Amino acid sequence: MTVYLVGAGPGDPELLTVRGARLLAAAEVVVVDRLVDRRVLGHIRPEAVVIDVGKTAHDGTSSQQQATINELLVEHGRAGTLVVRLKGGDPYLFGRGAEEHDALVAAGINVEVVPGVTSALAVPALAGIPATVRGVASSVTVVAGHSADDAGDKWAHLANADGTLVLLMAVASRGRIAERLLEAGLSPSTPVAAIERGTTPHERRVASTLAELGELDLVAPAVIVIGTVAERLAPMRSGRADASTNASPAH
Ligand code: SAH
Repeated sequence: MTVYLVGAGPGDPELLTVRGARLLAAAEVVVVDRLVDRRVLGHIRPEAVVIDVGKTAHDGTSSQQQATINELLVEHGRAGTLVVRLKGGDPYLFGRGAEEHDALVAAGINVEVVPGVTSALAVPALAGIPATVRGVASSVTVVAGHSADDAGDKWAHLANADGTLVLLMAVASRGRIAERLLEAGLSPSTPVAAIERGTTPHERRVASTLAELGELDLVAPAVIVIGTVAERLAPMRSGRADASTNASPAH
């Protein structure tokens, strides 16, 4: 009895790991989140049962929904079928993967994690932004946007880390986060890059500054990069997203 917690990557199905693709192709039950790009489901065999447990971000009842998902995983795990729990990006980065792991282990079910390509690093990378650059940024911090109102001097520490900040789930709180970082002394001209729906045909990239972040027109899901490396944001090449998702390297 093993449930596999598999990272689906940021969107483009070619960014699924080989191990993830192999498990998906063998799975009898696949439990999938809203954030997972539907193109990744192309790896699943037709007779497999696909259970969509899509949740709305910041939903007030999300902990109840999470409890239901945990029960569902335990139930299918107990039945002894090959269960893949497919999660966006990497399962252990803001994906509640740890909670699902713990619920399964508490129920006596074995869990194996298959790490995924996280949007936090891959979406900026494919838009021209390395998370670190020697001599420019020697650290990178990945922060959840819903921690914008956390007490303490967390944002002051982040502002002074002299590295790259990558914000996930931060579209709604981007204005408050920008204020905190400015209060803590980050320059208003600090480069910002935002990438919506990275690695999908709907990808959109916006270059900005910390002063303008709050007013930026942005739709979730997006990755927001703050720091000097964000200057490297490359413009979209027209047709690039389509070309990279549809073309197989063999052609
Ligand atoms: N476990 C996931 C992150 C889950 S949190 C991972 O490792 O990627 C969900 C947040 O991830 C979204 O709010 C958004 O900030 C980011 N995200 C995930 N996929 C994305 C994509 N294709 N483009 C832009 N942002 C994405």
